[in-house]
Amino acid sequence: MKRKALRAVAGRAVDAEAVAARARELGVLGWVRPTGEIHAEGPPDAVEALIAGFGDAEQVRVEGHEQFGIRGVSAGVFVVQEHQATAHHYDLRLEVEGVMRSWAVPKGPSLDPAAKRLAVEVEDHSLAHNDFEGTLGDGGVIIWDRGTYEQGGRVAWPEAIERGHAVFVLHGEKLRGGFALQRTRPGAKPQWLLIKRRDEEAQPGSDIVGERPESVVSGRTLADLLEPHG
Ligand code: MN
Repeated sequence: MKRKALRAVAGRAVDAEAVAARARELGVLGWVRPTGEIHAEGPPDAVEALIAGFGDAEQVRVEGHEQFGIRGVSAGVFVVQEHQATAHHYDLRLEVEGVMRSWAVPKGPSLDPAAKRLAVEVEDHSLAHNDFEGTLGDGGVIIWDRGTYEQGGRVAWPEAIERGHAVFVLHGEKLRGGFALQRTRPGAKPQWLLIKRRDEEAQPGSDIVGERPESVVSGRTLADLLEPHG
């Protein structure tokens, strides 16, 4: 079947729910952002019918086949807590269905798409723990980054996580743009890789955990927190 893919920018806000409903009626795949960007893919007549009324349209490479979704809508909150325990690590936590799914990342996240960071899946935490910063036993925790995130990719969450490939977009103070979590080893302590996607927020060669060690809440570093005060 002949297919056509178009991306268009309306240059104004659009009613994303209405556009998505129309796309489903027409049998068009893709996504729309409430800010007025659309990616539509399907039979040429249907794509053109959907795009009519949008602004500048450009022909784009077909990037996949996802059910028509709305992008730019928050899926929940995320937090990265730097944690000095027996071993030093960063806990990446994503809100999924009322809990914080969690991964311990020994080297911390990176904005360099070439850096593949080991992320060991750990137990879910409650949303209440997101606000915790302070000493904990002999160690401590700082809130290294936080914000909201969007679920991405073609497979709906949490199925994407169960399948072992989850794509998401972070809107934090330090971490921004697309990331992927790819499971490499299932089992009792599943191992994943956390990878920055190549987009306008990527910073090849950068070292965000070295450059920005401070808490986004208090401005303290973990060393400040753990330093005994006289
Ligand atoms: Mn931890």
